[in-house]
Amino acid sequence: MDAAHDALRTYFGYESFRAGQDRLVQAILEGRDALGVMPTGAGKSICYQVPALMLPGITFVVSPLVSLMGDQVRALKAAGARPSYLNSSLTPAQQNTVLKRAREGWYQIMYVAPERLLEPRFLAFSQAAAAEDGIGVPLVAVDEAHCVSQWGQDFRPSYLDIVSFIAALPIRPVVAAFTATATERVRADIVRMLGLQRPESVVTGFDRTNLFFGVEEMGDKAKVAWIRDFALEHEHESGIVYCSTRKAVDDLYLKLAHALEPRGVHVARYHAGMGTDDRTENQVAFINDTAPVIVATNAFGMGIDKPNVRYVIHNNVPESIEAYYQEAGRAGRDGDPAGCYLLWNGNDFRLRRYLIDREPEDERLDPDARELARQNRYRLLNAMEGYCQTTGCLREYILRYFGDEGALGVEHTAAGDNGAGCGNCSNCTTPYETEDVTDLAREAVLFVRAVNGRFGRALVADALHGANTERIRSYHLNEAPGYGSLAAESVGRIKDVIGQLVGRGYLVQSQGQYPVIGLGPYATEVLADSPEHPFSFTMKRRASKAKSRARVKRAVDLLRDEAAGVEPTPLARPHGASALAEDVSAVAPAVSRPHLGDDAELFERLRELRRDFAAERSWAPYMVCSDKALRGMCRLRPATRDELLEVPGIGEKKADDFGDAFIKEIAAFEALQE
Ligand code: ADP
Ligand code: ZN
Repeated sequence: MDAAHDALRTYFGYESFRAGQDRLVQAILEGRDALGVMPTGAGKSICYQVPALMLPGITFVVSPLVSLMGDQVRALKAAGARPSYLNSSLTPAQQNTVLKRAREGWYQIMYVAPERLLEPRFLAFSQAAAAEDGIGVPLVAVDEAHCVSQWGQDFRPSYLDIVSFIAALPIRPVVAAFTATATERVRADIVRMLGLQRPESVVTGFDRTNLFFGVEEMGDKAKVAWIRDFALEHEHESGIVYCSTRKAVDDLYLKLAHALEPRGVHVARYHAGMGTDDRTENQVAFINDTAPVIVATNAFGMGIDKPNVRYVIHNNVPESIEAYYQEAGRAGRDGDPAGCYLLWNGNDFRLRRYLIDREPEDERLDPDARELARQNRYRLLNAMEGYCQTTGCLREYILRYFGDEGALGVEHTAAGDNGAGCGNCSNCTTPYETEDVTDLAREAVLFVRAVNGRFGRALVADALHGANTERIRSYHLNEAPGYGSLAAESVGRIKDVIGQLVGRGYLVQSQGQYPVIGLGPYATEVLADSPEHPFSFTMKRRASKAKSRARVKRAVDLLRDEAAGVEPTPLARPHGASALAEDVSAVAPAVSRPHLGDDAELFERLRELRRDFAAERSWAPYMVCSDKALRGMCRLRPATRDELLEVPGIGEKKADDFGDAFIKEIAAFEALQE
């Protein structure tokens, strides 16, 4: 290994191998196959580059990332090595030159796209090179090896050619496979599909201890405000905001730019639909820190080695935990603390399901295999949904997903409950209250059994709540036993409990665009409920304090908009996305009013009062008075009926009906402040 250390020092300037790198390099040098599973940034390339530079002959590196080959080659050249690549970005003349020089034995390493492997000219060259009297092919390294598995998220049929290619070589080279994202199942697939022979397997820690993980459920509009505030609070830090579509990137980019640029915080943007120059310019601005924030699709970040990305925010839900961890993992490569936040709501999952169903079919697969692939995508997405909904430790959830449980010493209980937690994720740091929801859970499970698991979560919750809707009636759910048995609970709360029951295996949610809820493996515990085997179910929910803080924050946003002098005028306002852009721009002038926090608290109190009035009358709250009127009261703090009439939206009638109560509430609040 001394020679390997020398190579590491000479070419790359590093003092020592990282955990796992040494074992893989040694195995390859000894002529054994290898499988390296390490998260992005752990240093997989070194594992095959070092042997490639030491072993006589030419090493092939199979990689699907054609656009990155040039960068890799440039970096290796700069390090004093003799690398090359062969892909469709080269002209035929250039390809000829590369092959000619390769035949002469000039290159130590060659990056090739998988589609090229069985191309007659390339195959002939490789066969000659790997022959007894050839220049030698000591190693074939397969990057992104999970692409060979249909269980993974990005199966590529061309990866299936790799094994044929290797079999066609007169002398079998060492084969080494690398991936950042592989579950147990995918790992087994890699070994089988690439024909690895008793490989040295290294799965190094997926745990990125310096990363904080956060999950927040919120509406689309709140997401924009959240990201804007976050970016402003961290204006000197670099961050990536991922969206799931180009359109979403463009929309969010406009809103953020509108809000942040006037504050001197530049925003960049990146997706595959932009022109090359434009893309490069944005990427460079981000890498050079002139634009601290970049809004991008997942096309951005592959192979970009920016160590000081301090946060990665997902504005939309990615398609799998694999994808999420890879993208989020672009934060904090330098090892310093960094944050990964996932903002989500039901729309994200609807969009994802829609995308799965509309996905163009892969012609190389037969119908069964296609259906399998589709089911698999649903399975991956369901795991993502589990991540969003778990109240357990987020890091544990991810590590368990990757089969890397050693990292945390995760304990298992019967229903897959949580271990001790990491202390560095939003579920571990948010105070939770434990609530006994046994009765609610029991009713839900019994109802699902009664209706034979034929309905989705929302409909089940509606029925338990006793909603009398068209849909309920059309399915005769109003006649099902258990209908309305949870009339005292809100539909949202029932849905929460159902979600938790799914997460813990008492219920299951099917795949497909319209998932239904059925009985899960632990449902028997509920059905067997008896004094000897009592069933109990508790749920963690965010402590009310945190909730009220979130509410206050929302109110502060409203008030800030108002303070900035931008009165939302409902009539003149365009609808849809541009209305949102206005909202964001409203914060830009940064006018701050005294007592903003106080106002927010008062706003909440007045809102509750309004809610009471509305409830008494079975009205919608806005019929009592508008938000705008409430904000007006916060601002003017009326102490008399006349003063109250100054508030926009409060006329004689309203002043008569509710005036006293509002004035009293305001006075009580002011007394508290003294
Ligand atoms: P991966 O392919 O696993 O995402 P890379 O091979 O791109 O990771 O390596 C990530 C970063 O870590 C690069 O900047 C690389 O130069 C650096 N690196 C890799 N191995 C070492 C090492 N042994 N010592 C120091 N830095 C290393
Ligand atoms: Zn945790």
